[in-house]
Amino acid sequence: MIEGKTLETLISAEQLAERIAVLGKDIKETYTDAECLTVVGVLKGSFMFLADLVRAIDMPMEVDFLGVSSYGMETKSSGVVKFTRDLSSSIQGKHVLLVEDIIDTGLTMAYLLKNFEAREPASVRVCTLLHKPCNQKSDVPIDFTGFTIDDHFVIGYGLDYRQQHRNLPFIGYLKD
Ligand code: 5GP
Repeated sequence: MIEGKTLETLISAEQLAERIAVLGKDIKETYTDAECLTVVGVLKGSFMFLADLVRAIDMPMEVDFLGVSSYGMETKSSGVVKFTRDLSSSIQGKHVLLVEDIIDTGLTMAYLLKNFEAREPASVRVCTLLHKPCNQKSDVPIDFTGFTIDDHFVIGYGLDYRQQHRNLPFIGYLKD
């Protein structure tokens, strides 16, 4: 129970592991012509997914992170994206894979893609663990999707509820 609500499992740890192994192979096949990949995790939510995903991508890579915050303490997107941490090095001329935990309205990813364009990478692709198409406000291109889900506010496996519960090893949602 969390705040009087039941925690239901939406995607189990086993399902996550199976899907991520396949995603890793798909990503490697997409980048056969690239010498090195720059994997960029969007903090905080993607940290657990990124840690598992990079181990499933068998090719040379760099890993970097950027931090954004769009919800504050709310559970609905405000559409206002704030950088809380920038990349530690330039992505100019690099093949970038942006890794998100979840694409909901798409506003965060649309903002990031526009921001990245100006940094002149060789290519940018998007990998999201979860996609909630029902709330989409911006039609962002998604190259790799783990799972398409219904309109639940999900937590666990990196995703928070009021900054907590990121350490759950599965994806769950709160039911009244
Ligand atoms: P968007 O801009 O696409 O609406 O939202 C992107 C960000 O909102 C995600 O990176 C994530 O941090 C947060 N978010 C969206 N949906 C959920 C959800 O169901 N649960 C949690 N914990 N965060 C979400």
